[in-house]
Amino acid sequence: MGRLGIFGGSFCPPHLGHRRAAVFFANALRLDRVLIIPAARPPLKKALWGACADDRMELCSLTFSGDSRAWISDIELRRAGPGFTADTLRQVGRDYPGQELFLLVGADQLAKFDQWKDWRKILKACVLVVLRRNDAALEMPEALEPFRDRVVLLEGFTPLEVSSTELRARLLAGEDVSPWMEPAALAYIKEKGLFTVPPETRGACRAILEPLLTEKRLAHCERVADAAMELARRCGADPHKAMLAGMLHDAAKNMPPHRQLELCERYGKPLKKGRTGAPPQSVWHAFAGEAFLALDCGVTDPDVLSAVRWHTTGHPGMTLLEEIIFVADLISADRCYPDVGRVRALAAGSLREASRYILRFIIAKARREGHQLYPASLDWYEEIKKA
Ligand code: ATP
Repeated sequence: MGRLGIFGGSFCPPHLGHRRAAVFFANALRLDRVLIIPAARPPLKKALWGACADDRMELCSLTFSGDSRAWISDIELRRAGPGFTADTLRQVGRDYPGQELFLLVGADQLAKFDQWKDWRKILKACVLVVLRRNDAALEMPEALEPFRDRVVLLEGFTPLEVSSTELRARLLAGEDVSPWMEPAALAYIKEKGLFTVPPETRGACRAILEPLLTEKRLAHCERVADAAMELARRCGADPHKAMLAGMLHDAAKNMPPHRQLELCERYGKPLKKGRTGAPPQSVWHAFAGEAFLALDCGVTDPDVLSAVRWHTTGHPGMTLLEEIIFVADLISADRCYPDVGRVRALAAGSLREASRYILRFIIAKARREGHQLYPASLDWYEEIKKA
């Protein structure tokens, strides 16, 4: 029976830390082959900045091909949707029958391994092999204790302490990354000008949204960003934050409700089904959007996150940026409901007047259609109705 290693990752970009790990893995486990598998969209990771799938395939081949045991596989890139390892293992089992499978991960992945989809099934299908990434000792997480015989904590490895995140930041800043990268891979990056777009730009927002939204919804986000920047300039808020929140406010809009629920749960702010009143999609996407951006896209700015969270319902004590996004969403150039001219005119004079008008409209609509309004919207209206 052959021995087949599997090493998956975003490899954005692959570095010498990855290569050192793969070689140690192959030697220690006496593997015949190691499949290097760049991920399409790593389910637990932030969006990939700076390099497309073809670039990452090429970079992997330039980085790993010095070792004849390494085979670069596009198995996850070819599959639609997020690349769950359980599915990949099934596919590898079909493509390479009669092989004993070993899955390599770094210690950072071990701690959250029990969040991976079907992680118990993964441990049935392969042996999990773990390498340290720094000085910290390897420890078996409690959840994995019962599966001790399927998990190998590999000792004796001296890691190269580097991450792709660090390299992307250095490349963006124009710093030298040659100590951590294969020269041919670095030459490819330079030639193609990869990793030169800062993550917090409009282009980067588009890269996050494109796989998630319909064309029409993406166009709406662009127009909300325009309206939000305009309002921010007028009201003395930060236009860059307004652009980010405007672009990203509907990131979760086209996600199915179960994904929205799952994101909020994982973010530690679970949705209470009874509390939303309005139909789920109309309110949940805002909360799920915040969770998605914080958990999977690396958005850390609390102002931007809260503006996304409250853009649909509002809440008492709205910040200026939150209110800007709330209004911008209703006055963007793509909106064409009957009253939109009136709301735009109000917003041109006073943000607060526009908010009041919108809230009155939302409350009246909810009453007409017989659904309960999200409580925070009513509380906010009470707060601002007379002021
Ligand atoms: P990022 O900084 O974008 O999170 P990364 O450097 O962790 O990226 P990934 O592509 O996510 O790289 O890593 C794929 C796999 O390689 C993971 O299992 C990760 O733990 C492991 N790994 C990454 N860097 C190292 C390293 N320096 N030493 C050992 N293992 C590593």
